[in-house]
Amino acid sequence: MAADDNLQVYRKKRRFSVTPEPSGKRPRQRRTAKRLLFVVQKHRASHLHYDLRLEWNGVLLSWAVPKGPSLDPSVKRLAMAVEDHPIEYADFEGIIPAGEYGGGTVMVWDRGAYVPEAPDVGNSVEKGELKFTLHGKKLKGSWVLVRTGSRYAADRGNRSWLLIKHRDPEASTGDITAEEPRSVKSRRLLVEIALDEGGDVLKAAEGDPAEALRALLDRNPKLVPRRRNRKAAVWSSKGAT
Ligand code: MN
Repeated sequence: MAADDNLQVYRKKRRFSVTPEPSGKRPRQRRTAKRLLFVVQKHRASHLHYDLRLEWNGVLLSWAVPKGPSLDPSVKRLAMAVEDHPIEYADFEGIIPAGEYGGGTVMVWDRGAYVPEAPDVGNSVEKGELKFTLHGKKLKGSWVLVRTGSRYAADRGNRSWLLIKHRDPEASTGDITAEEPRSVKSRRLLVEIALDEGGDVLKAAEGDPAEALRALLDRNPKLVPRRRNRKAAVWSSKGAT
């Protein structure tokens, strides 16, 4: 989506009287052209995905990455271009109410600065190839976003891109989404954000790795719902002997 889109599409999709997401009406901060903001938000909506957002021209250019980023240069991750978001969205972590656009739990999974290889990011996006270096807490090093299909694919409404890690010292075959499941803003898992802020806890938990959930329950057993039917519990333990 063009950077001069002016957030019209973004605002049209949302009811700001209902969702806590920012409307993007606050004046934007100017940054130097060399250090721009990036954020990756883990979003448990109807489907789990990771939203990659790159600051350009006062907005956040945005791609939804269903499987999340991979540090393995041989792995190409589908990234669907979505509407530009306001700059202050980079700070948003919490609950989008059920039934609203993108309803579910949002986590600030990673953020930091990014440096585009070519200074005119808008031009690179138009051409369908954007190379950049990330300076996040989790994601670092050199990456590329490439639009799929022919060079005219964008004119035909093609929104499919691929997110690929370049070969460099930051590349690895480890699974960063499984190894680093927590928020860089609050250190919470998705389930903890939902618990704290009144979201759909079970749905949020589906987006957390099982191992992280198990560790959370070990530390805080009260999170497990209490068994109401004691007879049933006795019966099943007797039945087992
Ligand atoms: Mn999303």
